[in-house]
Amino acid sequence: MAECECLPGCPFFNDRMKEKPAMSQIYKNRYCLGGENQKCARHMIKAAFGSDKVPMDLYPNQVETARQLLAKSV
Ligand code: SF4
Repeated sequence: MAECECLPGCPFFNDRMKEKPAMSQIYKNRYCLGGENQKCARHMIKAAFGSDKVPMDLYPNQVETARQLLAKSV
């Protein structure tokens, strides 16, 4: 499975977000390293609007929040 192309600059993957959820390593294994980056909330926003538009506090599993942000843009 392919790693996410965003790994080097991603605040979540590099532990630069304010909070570090207990599930952090599980999310990294699943989304960042396990090939499910297309299902990552951060990746969804980056793909649609660019990396500067990804909310700093958005976690990979917050897909519903990402969907709402995407819906607002149309
Ligand atoms: S899968 Fe999501 S959280 Fe992980 S590196 Fe890619 S954009 Fe960042």
